[in-house]
Parts: sequence; structure tokens; C-alpha cells
Amino acid sequence: VGEFDLIARFFERPAPAASAAQVARGVGDDCALLQPTPGMQWAVSTDMLVEGRHFLSTVAPERLGHKALAVNLSDLAACGARPVAYTLALSLPSVQEAWLAGFAQGLHALADAHGIALVGGDTTAGPLVIGITVMGEVPPGQALLRSGARAGDDLWVSGHLGDARLALEAFRGTVSPPQRVMELARRRMEQPVARVALGLALRGVASAAADVSDGLCGDLGHILAASQVGAVIEADDAMQLIASKALWMGVEGTFDDGPTPDDAQWVQWVLHGGDDYELVFTAAPAWRSRVGEAAALSGTPVRRIGQIQAEPGLWLRDTNGVLTRLPTRGFDHFA
Ligand code: ADP
Ligand code: MG
Repeated sequence: VGEFDLIARFFERPAPAASAAQVARGVGDDCALLQPTPGMQWAVSTDMLVEGRHFLSTVAPERLGHKALAVNLSDLAACGARPVAYTLALSLPSVQEAWLAGFAQGLHALADAHGIALVGGDTTAGPLVIGITVMGEVPPGQALLRSGARAGDDLWVSGHLGDARLALEAFRGTVSPPQRVMELARRRMEQPVARVALGLALRGVASAAADVSDGLCGDLGHILAASQVGAVIEADDAMQLIASKALWMGVEGTFDDGPTPDDAQWVQWVLHGGDDYELVFTAAPAWRSRVGEAAALSGTPVRRIGQIQAEPGLWLRDTNGVLTRLPTRGFDHFA
């Protein structure tokens, strides 16, 4: 198959019903033509995945197709934007039809689940690199930004953190979880869930939000810097729940066939793990019940993990009240 057959076969398809009204022209011309809903703002974001850097070459193509779109949807989620359309820039070492079919299947399944249309892209030979640009809509002034956190706000996080890191450490051989735990952790790494419904439900509730792609401390650090505030994270029960340790222990009882990560290790993965694609957000304490409603409405677990304070810096407070300063640097490709 040549370049154009490949596009027609794997990537040209009708827009899902949810976004059809906004796609005047999709794949097949020099430009896609999009029709914004009157009065709405576009939210636009791009994320690339590079083989060997963002994913291992052993990942199943279906999961890679899913992840490439999920990490982009996660950015729309963090802004509280509704996904509408996306483009796909694909650099491939060679045309492997079975691989492409799997990749397209994973990609389209997630796109359909969110009603988002593939409207264009570019296809070239080269190292395996996937670049996606997503476009979503949000009412003017309602996008969740990093800059809105205020002293006294609660600090919240969705779901669990550290699972992708557990899988990565297992691949590196530093831990050897039981097979069932590894399967679940690996799925979290390879098929993350973008918290789009939660992001939408948090419009008008959260004062600031970011998605956790480079580690909680790093991504929370962006909120703190943009909002010119600091934060204290409580290392209490909530922290234990955010770490999936309890979950994994429930699945398998124990890490019996290798070194078992200790609590301190788990906290490090929660704080600095990366690749989680959960949302970290802030909200006024008066709106705790509204946060609870947003969580229930979107079917997403959320937990309060600390507070925003006026004094800059990020701190971890242990159950004895002792404060430890945390770095606010997340993963940096050039550091
Ligand atoms: P141009 O030469 O004008 O850049 P191309 O020949 O690269 O256009 O692409 C032809 C059409 O196919 C365009 O509409 C483009 O957006 C679309 N396209 C190319 N690659 C992809 C892809 N990987 N996924 C979706 N659409 C694609
Ligand atoms: Mg082109």
C-alpha cells in the first residue's frame, strides 16, 4: 500500500455523530474545514509520542493507538473542554498492515467513545513518531486554567497515581510484581483513561486544573507557579489510597516473587511517577459538595490531598506534622 491508500484505508472515515455538525470537511483536501459552535472558544493542544522515549517498542498497536489519543484528550480534560476534532501526524519506519490495523482500531475506538473526528494529518516514512493535535470547545471564560488557584483552596486529585511507574519499574527489573498486578499496572501505563467527563463537570467549580503527565509534583508545580501560590500535601490516609498499593494488595495479597516496594517507595511514585493522566485541581472549600457532585456525575473518584497556601513552595506534611520540601520539577526531556 502506498501513502494515499494507507490514509484512505486506515484513517479516512466519517465523523462521529457528536462532532459531525462541526466538521464541514475532513480528511482528503488540503485543509480540514471546521465549523465552530457559535460563541464557543477552541481549546487546542498537541502531544507527540516517540518510540523508545514515550513508549516501548513491545507495546501492542491497539494500546498505542489508544494512548496516543488519550494523552491528548487528557489535556482537553484538564481545560474542561469538550473534544471535537483531531489531526494525526504519523512517521512510520515501514508499512506493516497488521500493525496499522491494530493502531487504527485502538485509535478509532477511543475517538468514537468521545465523539471526536479525525479530520486530517500527515504521513511520512521515518522513525516511529505519533503526533496528535486535538481541538475541543469551551464556553468563553470557562476553561480551567493553571493560574486560578488561591490561598485556602483545597487540593484534589482524581483516581490513582503511580501505577504507570510501577509498570515501568517492573520493565526495568527493579520490582517484580505478581503477574496479575503487572497486567493491571501495564494497562494503566499503556491504555490511560483521559478524565474528560470530570474536566467538563468541574467547569465553574475548580479554580485551577492540570493533568498529571509528568508527575504530581511537577504538574502541580505548574499550577503553583502560574497561580503564584504554594501548597501542602498531607501524607495521610488519602495518600495511601491514591497509591494503588492497597488496590494491588487486594488483587494479589502481596508481592511475593521479588522485592516488595515499601510505603516510602510508593509515596515517591505517587509524587513523581508520571504517565498517570489523572487531574490535579483546586477548588474553594465552600465547594466540596460541588466537587463531590462533579465526581459522582462523571463516575470518577476524587480525593482531597492538601491545601493551597499563600507562601510559595510545595511541602509534604507527615502524620506527625513534620514538613518536607518537595521539588516541583517534573520530567524534563532536556534536563
Ligand atoms: P498535503 O500534501 O496537502 O499535505 P497529504 O497528501 O499529506 O496532503 O494528505 C492528504 C490528505 O490526507 C489530507 O487531507 C491530510 O490531512 C490527510 N492525511 C494525511 N495523513 C493522515 C493521517 N495520518 N491521518 C489522517 N489524515 C491524514
Ligand atoms: Mg502532507
